[in-house]
Amino acid sequence: MPAKFFTPKRRPDIPMTEERYRVVYDMLNAVEVLDEDCGKLCGCACCTGESAAGSDGTAPEMGIYLLPGEEALHREDGDWLTMKEDEEGMYFGCCATPPLCPRDRRPIQCRTFPLLPHLYEDGSLEMVYNDVELPYRCPLIDEEIPLEDDFVEATQTAWEILIRDPRIREIIREDSIEREKSMIDLMDKLL
Ligand code: SF4
Ligand code: SF4
Repeated sequence: MPAKFFTPKRRPDIPMTEERYRVVYDMLNAVEVLDEDCGKLCGCACCTGESAAGSDGTAPEMGIYLLPGEEALHREDGDWLTMKEDEEGMYFGCCATPPLCPRDRRPIQCRTFPLLPHLYEDGSLEMVYNDVELPYRCPLIDEEIPLEDDFVEATQTAWEILIRDPRIREIIREDSIEREKSMIDLMDKLL
């Protein structure tokens, strides 16, 4: 389990700018989740959604939600990532050429998968394996394949920077509250 805790002190807000996003991109460009291409383990399942076809046989739209402000980095990337804004002002990036895309330009959430940030009420941050239901199987999660230490550390540092933006922190805390409720529900059923 790649869990590590940061100091539980809440730090001052710093909104994410293009420049701060580029720093985070550079930091994550320097690491890989494994010392081999994990896409070879699964046929790039998370980029192709091969097993994700709906009951009518149509494949769902491949893509990933961008974080608030991250869309600014992808305005010129229409040849591989087209963006759609939803009613809440969040941008969904649709992959035009999956599983291929410029690796050093992937959105944040593609880079830090299969880990997710869990933000506790006291401000401490823990990286956990993705527990959101997926339309495909990720061997890294299913088989608990150990991730590279520098990937875990960079991912954690990246999310520590990202949650200093109150827009991102709110999203992550909401997701974390849902996770905590699910855990409590599960414990209630088991005990
Ligand atoms: S992160 Fe998981 S699903 Fe995606 S390519 Fe790697 S092993 Fe496959
Ligand atoms: S942007 Fe790239 S890495 Fe992310 S899901 Fe699309 S093809 Fe995969």
